[in-house]
Amino acid sequence: MTFTTRFAPSPTGPLHLGHAYSALLAYDMARTAQGRFLLRIEDTDTSRARPHWEAAIYDDLHWLGLQWETPVLRQSEHLSRYNDALMHLSTLGLIYPCSCKRSDIRAALSAPQEGAPQAAQPYPGTCRQRPMHSRQPGDALRLDMGRALQHVPHPLPGFTETGAAHAGHHILKPSLMLRTTGDVVLGRKEIETVSYVLAAVLDDAAQQITPVIRGQDLYPTTFLQILLQNLLDLPTPTYHHHALIRDEHGKRLAKRDDARAIASYRARGVSPAQIRARIVV
Ligand code: GLU
Repeated sequence: MTFTTRFAPSPTGPLHLGHAYSALLAYDMARTAQGRFLLRIEDTDTSRARPHWEAAIYDDLHWLGLQWETPVLRQSEHLSRYNDALMHLSTLGLIYPCSCKRSDIRAALSAPQEGAPQAAQPYPGTCRQRPMHSRQPGDALRLDMGRALQHVPHPLPGFTETGAAHAGHHILKPSLMLRTTGDVVLGRKEIETVSYVLAAVLDDAAQQITPVIRGQDLYPTTFLQILLQNLLDLPTPTYHHHALIRDEHGKRLAKRDDARAIASYRARGVSPAQIRARIVV
């Protein structure tokens, strides 16, 4: 299979040094392997995605010297394909509608019988017994994690990671997924809007991605993505999660950190070669 990788930014802010590192790493790895480098615009979050950020992505990446195949896949143009996959999961009995607000979830998690609330607890399952036909317009759609884990083949599937921090082969661990991921939202409240994880899994398969190359902050979502691939009969690529570029205080860069935006470096007269030199880790 041809080595095919992608850089998949969300056009919700300026690209910063961390994005430059991710894009250059994927680009260089594709070139070394004489493979393909694709760009994918992950713009399903219509409340935050903006056309001017998308235009800035193309501009910054061109300036960095990257080239990619066209046409570029823009996720906002594929919503019905994602929705079809969500409905397929629903026909397997793995999806239920949920009307809980954040405050309902917080209250259920802090109920005395549940013990003290902890950081990042999964959804407590309040709506889990609701049938799909009870879906109301404002409802989110959640994956029933317990049922989903019973649907995947045994022995449980895994994936190969080549990034230094987690290198090796990893297997899904049901107890961990129930405890940490739980019943995640796969469909948002707006009709035909799916979560990032589902759209990314579908497009990694549609674009025949062989290694997914991205930042280590996304490593934890990989387990859910492997589960979705198996539920949807999609191939599992390999994964390479790279170290994150951090500021001088050790904090990872965020989109709002304008001083590290590629555009700011450009405005200050920094060259693409200097950017490359700055981010070699
Ligand atoms: N769109 C995601 C982001 O900008 C990246 C998703 C991925 O590489 O899988 O953080």
